[in-house]
Amino acid sequence: MTEKFWETKALEEMTRKEWESLCDGCGLCCLKKVEDEDSGELFFTDIACRLLDTSTCRCTNYARRMAYVKDCLQLSADEPEAFRWLPMTCAYRRLSEDLDLPEWHPLLTGDPESVHKAGISVRDKVTSETVTDEWTVLTRFS
Ligand code: SF4
Ligand code: SF4
Repeated sequence: MTEKFWETKALEEMTRKEWESLCDGCGLCCLKKVEDEDSGELFFTDIACRLLDTSTCRCTNYARRMAYVKDCLQLSADEPEAFRWLPMTCAYRRLSEDLDLPEWHPLLTGDPESVHKAGISVRDKVTSETVTDEWTVLTRFS
């Protein structure tokens, strides 16, 4: 990959490998979401999609996920409107809004664990929807 490609390329110009490397593995987009009817604010709950491994924060069947989870987000540079469902920490959303990568991002640290060490990821903070449907708000979107 080109060094610091995210600073020189638009999202739609990135290779598949570059695009995929932007995901820090936080797992936040795999949480159930709720919307405040009055304010329109969006929140992540502490309930995760049934395919999310809540320890690694990775999808357990990424290649075939759409066959099992119809409303899973399929991100594309051609459909930036979907980025509103991502947290402000997410590189796809940040780059689409002309913001820098956060300092803990694995592309900057060289350490895939840095998202967990920084306390950004959902690791061990959430429960799978296969276990319970009782939820509380984990965090706001932004
Ligand atoms: S919120 Fe963004 S960075 Fe985090 S897992 Fe989802 S796509 Fe990857
Ligand atoms: S199917 Fe996989 S990628 Fe999609 S929300 Fe569930 S865990 Fe996340």
